[in-house]
Amino acid sequence: MVEEGVTRFAAAHADGPLSARRFGAVAAGLAGWRTVLAGLGLVGQDPKRYGGAGYGNVSARVGPFPGPRGARPFLISGTQTGGWPCAELADFALVERYDIAGNRVVSRGAIRPSSESMTHGAVYDLGGHIRCVLHAHCPVIWRRRKALRLPCTADGVDYGTPEMASEIDRLARGTALLDAPLLAMSGHEDGVVAFGRSGDEAGAILMATLARAEAMVFEERGRVCR
Ligand SMILES: [Zn+2]
Repeated sequence: MVEEGVTRFAAAHADGPLSARRFGAVAAGLAGWRTVLAGLGLVGQDPKRYGGAGYGNVSARVGPFPGPRGARPFLISGTQTGGWPCAELADFALVERYDIAGNRVVSRGAIRPSSESMTHGAVYDLGGHIRCVLHAHCPVIWRRRKALRLPCTADGVDYGTPEMASEIDRLARGTALLDAPLLAMSGHEDGVVAFGRSGDEAGAILMATLARAEAMVFEERGRVCR
């Protein structure tokens, strides 16, 4: 199994608190979705999964909009915060710039950004209208990704790498991803990425896909259990 939670890009991080006045409202919206996802086990930390590393992360754009590619700033959950029961502004980092080709992220905040920040940046580069990215770990969707006809990144491509970014770009060009914005990461166990114009749009497609996957379980087994 591939190691979870390890940062694979060069990080230039400035330590210091983020302004509640500027970022509090965006963090609140993100914390809302993070709490919902944690309740469903889609974000978290479990000694039985991924060697006990925290998993799943959420981000949302901040202005200026739309911003040039590579410089579409976003607030993202801090590295290894998946298992934390509560979230506050200090648990989010601001990614200001990301250089996919150079594999480098520039950020600030009281915590370092998620090791999957590069993947979030690649999604924001797909369009200035994209304002939220939810990265969940969902076995029930991931195992049925082909049956659900989800756009899938290639098997050998791991999270947080330049190759993952180019796979996301390939899916946006070659599939209906921008119309139904949820993809599965075949090379990243249980990994799915939903996005949208808002947290509500990203969350809605993730919840709808989860329900479709659970319906498929019911069809396979004649029943479905919590
Ligand atoms: Zn992941």
